[in-house]
Amino acid sequence: LPTVAIIGRPNVGKSTLFNRLVGKRLALVDDQPGVTRDRREGEANLLGLEFRVMDTAGYEDEDAATLPGRMRAQTEAAVREADVSLFLIDARAGVTPLDEEIARWLRSTDRPVVLMANKAEGRAGESGILEAMALGLGDPIPFSAEHGEGVVDLFEALLPHVERDEEEAPEDDESPDAPLKLAIVGRPNAGKSTLVNRLLGEERMITGPEAGITRDSISVDWEWEDFEGGMRKVRLIDTAGLRKKARVEEKLEKLSVMDTLRAIDFAEVVVLLLDATRGLEVQDLKIADRVLQEGRALIIVMNKWDVAEEASSLFNGVKKALDEGLAQVKGVPLLTVSAVTGKGLDTMMKVAFETRDAWSRRVSTGQLNRWFERALEANPPPAPGGKRIKPRYVTQNKSRPPSFVLFGTRVDLLPVSYQRYLINGLRKEFDFGAVPVRLSLRAPR
Ligand code: GDP
Repeated sequence: LPTVAIIGRPNVGKSTLFNRLVGKRLALVDDQPGVTRDRREGEANLLGLEFRVMDTAGYEDEDAATLPGRMRAQTEAAVREADVSLFLIDARAGVTPLDEEIARWLRSTDRPVVLMANKAEGRAGESGILEAMALGLGDPIPFSAEHGEGVVDLFEALLPHVERDEEEAPEDDESPDAPLKLAIVGRPNAGKSTLVNRLLGEERMITGPEAGITRDSISVDWEWEDFEGGMRKVRLIDTAGLRKKARVEEKLEKLSVMDTLRAIDFAEVVVLLLDATRGLEVQDLKIADRVLQEGRALIIVMNKWDVAEEASSLFNGVKKALDEGLAQVKGVPLLTVSAVTGKGLDTMMKVAFETRDAWSRRVSTGQLNRWFERALEANPPPAPGGKRIKPRYVTQNKSRPPSFVLFGTRVDLLPVSYQRYLINGLRKEFDFGAVPVRLSLRAPR
């Protein structure tokens, strides 16, 4: 993570800012100068922007007119180590000789600095803000660490310095080499067990015309040979096994709901298997909806294609029903296979891996906002009730599924249709395909 140092003379509010950024009440805060002693570090999340933050020590200040040696050493080390430093002054107290001394040193280092005039809530800090302009470190950001004012401006100032490094090693689960967690769900008799057997190339499960006579549930690790001859790891949850002892139809239906939920919870990609000879039923749409709601990537696969009649009109009918039935995500992949002959399975696996890639994708804040500006220009947000909505930034705060935070003035009033416009734009611009994309709105203050 990029690193941000908080510096400034004692009692300007460094610890309060640190706490606000890290979100934990770790530091000891007091109005007595110099009550915090150790350099502390934490992980900050500012409106979705993630970075490491260091709070420099405020050693007991014997002589208020000079920067004590140890504190100076700490500050200098922190500034050198950090990608950017937040230099706090107390807007109510105005600029002191000590602030000037620190500023002089900062100007000589050429390290990036963001000047913050803290304790500026209300109008009390106005003259301090004006004085701070004379420090030669750019315009100060009026801020209140205690009240959380100025957060958006701080975000804006930090953005160019702490943009996510795309070379950063992905987390274990996010590595493209991690096994693809795949679940195959669907109504009884859709052919789940047959499909799993076929994929694994062995008679691991007992299948037959009687629904649900399969063995215990587990996840199975195997490898799929991709089209380039590479071996890709797959971890498959075997839901059919959960229904081993069920015989009564009603009981079986109930259990299969539980199976499905468990499988969805486990999976990155969910294959919803349909029986092509029966078409799309209401229950299938319910499962599909649930998968998307849970933020999983969904692929819909029509099985038994070897015995499907009037294949093309059947396919088109199901496609249309899906687009109408799954309003929030258009274009979920629809494939056809035969679990019995094996036709279509390689394509299904290829699509499953591609879908996981999209589901795991991260977009840098810079790329996002370059797109965002264009999207706003092409279609400016409405002004409901004459109130102007001013979206300012968007960041990706999570992947798997891709999740974004939009903030700006009154963005919480953005109509659903406009939110959808943005989500669809994100999808297109960054190739998210039909994986669920989340957007949350934050209007500061
Ligand atoms: P499950 O309940 O979803 O696990 O379904 P099964 O795998 O037990 O399959 C139910 C029935 O459909 C069995 O009789 C299978 O032989 C049959 N079946 C499964 N896949 C296919 C297929 O691709 N083509 C045809 N013709 N029959 C299939």
